[in-house]
Amino acid sequence: MKYLITSALPYANGPLHFGHIAGVYLPADIFTRHKKLKGEKAIHISGSDEHGVAIMQNAQKAKKSYQEYVNEWHKTHKDLFAKYDITFDYFGQTSKEYHKEETLKWFKDLLDKGLIEKRAEKQLQCQSCKNMLPDRFVEGECYVCHYPEARGDECPDCGTWIDPLKLINPVCKFCGSKEVKAIDSYQWYLMLSKMHERFQEWFKSRKPHWRKNVVPFVESLTKENLVDRAITRDLDWGIDVPLEEAKGKKIYVWFDAPIGYVSNTKELLKDSGEDYLKDWWKNPDTKIINFIGKDNIIFHGIIFPVMCLGTDFVNPVSDLPANQYVNLEGKQFSKSKGWYVDADEAISQFGSDAMRFYLTSLIPETSDSSFTWKGLELKINSELANNVGNFINRAMKFSNSKWPEGIPASKFEAFQGEHLESVKTFVKEYHELLDTYQIKKGQEHLMNLGSKVNLFITERAPWS
Ligand SMILES: [Zn+2]
Ligand SMILES: [Zn+2]
Repeated sequence: MKYLITSALPYANGPLHFGHIAGVYLPADIFTRHKKLKGEKAIHISGSDEHGVAIMQNAQKAKKSYQEYVNEWHKTHKDLFAKYDITFDYFGQTSKEYHKEETLKWFKDLLDKGLIEKRAEKQLQCQSCKNMLPDRFVEGECYVCHYPEARGDECPDCGTWIDPLKLINPVCKFCGSKEVKAIDSYQWYLMLSKMHERFQEWFKSRKPHWRKNVVPFVESLTKENLVDRAITRDLDWGIDVPLEEAKGKKIYVWFDAPIGYVSNTKELLKDSGEDYLKDWWKNPDTKIINFIGKDNIIFHGIIFPVMCLGTDFVNPVSDLPANQYVNLEGKQFSKSKGWYVDADEAISQFGSDAMRFYLTSLIPETSDSSFTWKGLELKINSELANNVGNFINRAMKFSNSKWPEGIPASKFEAFQGEHLESVKTFVKEYHELLDTYQIKKGQEHLMNLGSKVNLFITERAPWS
């Protein structure tokens, strides 16, 4: 068995906080290290997700080119991961040529198979600046809760998935004009409805071993027939739709982003003699594991698997360890509301070992967790320093002073029998926890061993 581990592609549009690190990147890193330390074959793949309207708007605000803007965030995220000792075998960019090639291959294949179709639809256009207004490029009053600044994709107040054509008094976000009109247009749709039965059949094989927070969520969204979704937009940033009649249209971000796992693997292996499909993605001996946050379940548990089944280019995900959220002192992190701790600042103050140790204890595997300063202090002082640190320190000090040349074999006798057995059992249990993505529990288990061995030394008092 080999392990293809992916971490959700961070969006190249803003800083990462502890929730992202503890929820996705740290557990994926620990899992990969665990597999590699056991001598198993494993690769960890991720990269920046660099398309979409939110990026375009912020780049425009920052008066930067889109490419320049995403390159900056790409570098910032890479540097942060390095400080946290989170390592990837490959961390790529979806704005690169290799990614475009792979995405077009998927688009064309699904189109040939009738799983992508062209459809006429009404769309908003600004009559003043003539821009088409997809998603967040239009704002207006929410037709559900009447919040005045609902966006074309979502109402930030009531959470409704907005139909932009229904927005009350829509305003163009390019030029601020209120002359917004619905015009006849067309887009290409991913025909999820045609894949409903194949999806259900496949999902049956995943249900028994997927997490309890994932299965009912996917089930509730797939009970009725799957809904087809537009995968193209009228934008000037993204991958061109490879059709003459689609001039000016781009493939939309949620279609190309998950393909990034595949294109980044291809890029990693290009000079290695290994084939990214035959040896990894399409290999029945490969376990494909996507580490994600719970807000990403719909794409990783439904839409991307449908794309994988449809093309048959790669096998769909084997395991989907989706984590809950990490809050800050009990409240959700919010950069805009100033409820925020800079992950970069924290690491320069406390260092990677301490931060990783505390954040591991916060991995929200079964429920939301909360970052607190008191919690950080306690974890570091009483567990990392007092339990683990103390054990290593006293054991090393004692053995160095008594046997500077190394401990003679005869001295290990005291450790035979039940003690050795209990340590062996511990190691087995510890591996089982990590193998099943229960990394936070694994850490707790390790702390129990720490307490036991400290007690053992105190009771045996080898110095006397
Ligand atoms: Zn306009
Ligand atoms: Zn609303």
